[in-house]
Amino acid sequence: MHGLMMDMPLSIAALIQHADRHHGDTEIVSRTVEGHLHRYGYSDAHRRARQLANALRALGVKPHDRVGTLAWNGYRHFEIYYAASGSGAVVHTINPRLFPEQITYIVNHADDAVLFFDLTFLPLVEKLAPLCRGVRAWIAMTDRAHMPGGGLDLLCYEELVDSHSDDYRWPEIDERSAAGLCYTSGTTGNPKGVLYSHRSTVLHAYGASLPDALNLSARDVVLPVVPMFHVNAWGLPYAAPLVGAKLVFPGAQLDGASLHGLFEAEKVTCSAGVPTIWLGLLNHVKSQGQRFTTLERTVIGGSACPPAMIRTFEDDYRVRVLHAWGMSEMSPLGTVNTFKAKHLALPKAQRDALQNSQGRPIFGVDMKIVDDEGKELPRDGKAFGNLLVRGPWICSSYFKDEGGDPLREGWFPTGDVATLDPDGYMQITDRSKDVIKSGGEWISSIDLENAAMAHPAVAEAAVIGVAHPKWDERPLLVVMRKPGESVSREALLQFFEGRVAKWWIPDDVVFVDQIPHTATGKILKTKLREQFRDHRLSTA
Ligand code: AMP
Repeated sequence: MHGLMMDMPLSIAALIQHADRHHGDTEIVSRTVEGHLHRYGYSDAHRRARQLANALRALGVKPHDRVGTLAWNGYRHFEIYYAASGSGAVVHTINPRLFPEQITYIVNHADDAVLFFDLTFLPLVEKLAPLCRGVRAWIAMTDRAHMPGGGLDLLCYEELVDSHSDDYRWPEIDERSAAGLCYTSGTTGNPKGVLYSHRSTVLHAYGASLPDALNLSARDVVLPVVPMFHVNAWGLPYAAPLVGAKLVFPGAQLDGASLHGLFEAEKVTCSAGVPTIWLGLLNHVKSQGQRFTTLERTVIGGSACPPAMIRTFEDDYRVRVLHAWGMSEMSPLGTVNTFKAKHLALPKAQRDALQNSQGRPIFGVDMKIVDDEGKELPRDGKAFGNLLVRGPWICSSYFKDEGGDPLREGWFPTGDVATLDPDGYMQITDRSKDVIKSGGEWISSIDLENAAMAHPAVAEAAVIGVAHPKWDERPLLVVMRKPGESVSREALLQFFEGRVAKWWIPDDVVFVDQIPHTATGKILKTKLREQFRDHRLSTA
């Protein structure tokens, strides 16, 4: 016997309809590439998304066609999200920080029908256009006054919107239909496409908004620093309209001064981004003696958040850190670190320690750890193994079946090594390919990096395994010092004493001017491993 409830599909258009009807004057504020601050309400965004949906139809974009974007976080990008998915097409956000060859591959693999771009990316588009012949229209996301010259045949976003009526009814769409596409920035092999559905996106938005997740509400002002081309800004452009939160889009200016200025001017309460972004912001705020007067919490994820950063935000600036873990294949949210009632009375040191983990799964994400034979390991906070996940917003296979079935008996292997404790808290030991294998035992590069980052002279630290004749691999610490600070190799190695097991202490330290990052802000360990492949450890 079926239940007798309405069978209404979950749809992305319903999010913007809801925000229009109930939060129509709640603002979306954007710092534009053209240089000004743009502001309007959810009703305006919904009206323009409908105009754009008519424009897409006129351009010949059909249901399931891919609509590419090369764009910063801004209101026009937001409109494209809703116009494309709402009309049955698929919004395909492209990370402009990837190599042009990767972007060419991605655009052709996705078979983008049209491609929208911010003016910043015109030089990139000029390179792509001759190589991506399937793209029927390149649309510059600006007005007539700012349209670039040059040889390319471009359409103007504002003209496109203005020339179409807002008389558009969002079609009823099977909730399992594709709505969004995002390629993983894999460091090896070709990028793989993760294809989100209406259902997965809406369920993820519900999950992300929960009190023990991002705790979003109509009283929040949300500034996603994480780009809309990095797993849909972690779902915030969907979750904010769902709860009616004000949105602030920072555009291309992601330096500390610009972000802090926007936080203060727009009274931002909640933000989200990767650790490297916050390094820049915290340095700026500290050097200027500034405070955060409205920011209540910030989500930090994408790579392990160093405990020193959590403490600076929480103890020095009274900003709550929501340490979160996830991946493109998970839409992306998997876990968020918040306390349970029983933790509130713990001594501060114990609570601080608990916060260093990646947190507990949101309902909708099931996880387990297994050994190399696939046998489940205990949830005791000690055993570590390969982390597997499953749930309604987790990828079941890649777009166009690239690489075959990724699942193992219905579970998605994350490629992360982790512990799970009896309370559900998950702690990432490492990416399985980054873990350092020393004498048959594993050393967590993340733990060593976190320990090094606690040193006051260290701006950023990375640990990689280098070959050792006796132990197979031993850790090498690569350090970027803070400007004007000095610290010796010996002092740094000594700093690890008492902070990690003795046999984990790196064998050597090298100082560098810059630590390389991937297109999504993670430390690019493949590059470091290549750079220091021939590094001879003094212990070798
Ligand atoms: P991406 O698909 O680019 O978002 O990358 C996902 C991967 O980033 C995960 O599998 C983890 O290895 C890493 N990651 C994300 N968040 C965290 C975190 N809070 N701590 C440690 N690693 C993380």
